[in-house]
Amino acid sequence: MFATVLRPGLLAAARSPRVRRTVTGMTSTRKLVERFVAGESEAHAAAATRLLRETDRLVTIDYLGEDTTDPAQAAATVDHYRELLHTLADLPASGETVRPLEVSLKLSALGQSLPRSGHAIALEHAHKICSAADAAGVWVTIDAEDHTTTDSTLAIVRELRREFPWLGTVLQAYLHRTEDDCREFAGPGSRIRLCKGAYREPASVAFQSRAEVDASYLRCLDVLMHGRGYPMIATHDPAMIAAATGSARSAARAPGDFEFQMLYGIRDDEQRRLAAAGHRMRVYVPYGDEWYGYFMRRLAERPANLAFFLRALRPGARR
Ligand SMILES: Cc1cc2nc3c(=O)[nH]c(=O)nc-3n(C[C@H](O)[C@H](O)[C@H](O)COP(=O)(O)OP(=O)(O)OC[C@H]3O[C@@H](n4cnc5c(N)ncnc54)[C@H](O)[C@@H]3O)c2cc1C
Repeated sequence: MFATVLRPGLLAAARSPRVRRTVTGMTSTRKLVERFVAGESEAHAAAATRLLRETDRLVTIDYLGEDTTDPAQAAATVDHYRELLHTLADLPASGETVRPLEVSLKLSALGQSLPRSGHAIALEHAHKICSAADAAGVWVTIDAEDHTTTDSTLAIVRELRREFPWLGTVLQAYLHRTEDDCREFAGPGSRIRLCKGAYREPASVAFQSRAEVDASYLRCLDVLMHGRGYPMIATHDPAMIAAATGSARSAARAPGDFEFQMLYGIRDDEQRRLAAAGHRMRVYVPYGDEWYGYFMRRLAERPANLAFFLRALRPGARR
């Protein structure tokens, strides 16, 4: 029932302006958002980063926002990333082969969906952020969004990698195309974050059942682990984590030759355990006030998250 009815409904609601107005207007929602979002400002993101670094966790920070239809807002997003990089300056960033600090970007927040020149605008904005990040010793990874953006996103990644070979990108195991994309991107130095995929996608392009998505994840994982790049295994799923460790061993990779990634506020104990066991563990830390789409995708992922949300909405519920 959750996977077939509630999940698609929540993912559709994630893009509905009407539901967005209702959900973001409720004070009870804001408390729950704090579980998944580090705060509204660059200072909040830096504070969360500092705490995570104390337990040896690596960090990637996302300034929340997506599907921007306003060129000024897309340009303002670049300013937020510059401000963020400036705020992070007092945290040690470079000096290691694997950079402990990274920022994650959504190209749709940088104007990718603007009519006519969206692709070129997003490329130009992403280039500015990559230049600023490189100067600060911080890596960048480009997030994956819905499948209509994949060709444009991967074209931008190919273009930017000529100048910034360390640029990472995300591939979503639920898409039929992804095993082939993994083969293309498994080359030397290539940083690929493999996730299951968080959007509502049609059967024409994406696997629909959990079993099919998991099987695809395992195939992609093997391609990346046996390739020559740097796999970034983004999942909270114990079965995928165990498979990654096994696949790394069979590909003769040491723990430092790949990393695990999880979202801020999810499975914190497991994040600490993996870091303490000597694995590279990077946490995706979102901040900003445009949290609605991100928050709804987290509710759609897991019945327990939704139940927690619904309980908090009950009249008289304590929070
Ligand atoms: C670092 C990172 C970056 C991401 N970037 C993108 C992106 O760019 N584009 C995109 O489409 N998606 C992205 N995602 C989201 C991803 O696609 C999935 O939607 C999300 O991670 C849920 O899938 P899962 O692999 O964690 O496992 P699921 O299939 O959601 O869960 C499998 C199992 O994991 C365990 N589990 C999951 N959540 C919890 C929890 N809260 N507490 C305890 N156990 C839990 C449970 O045992 C559960 O049965 C990203 C995810 C991460 C971690």
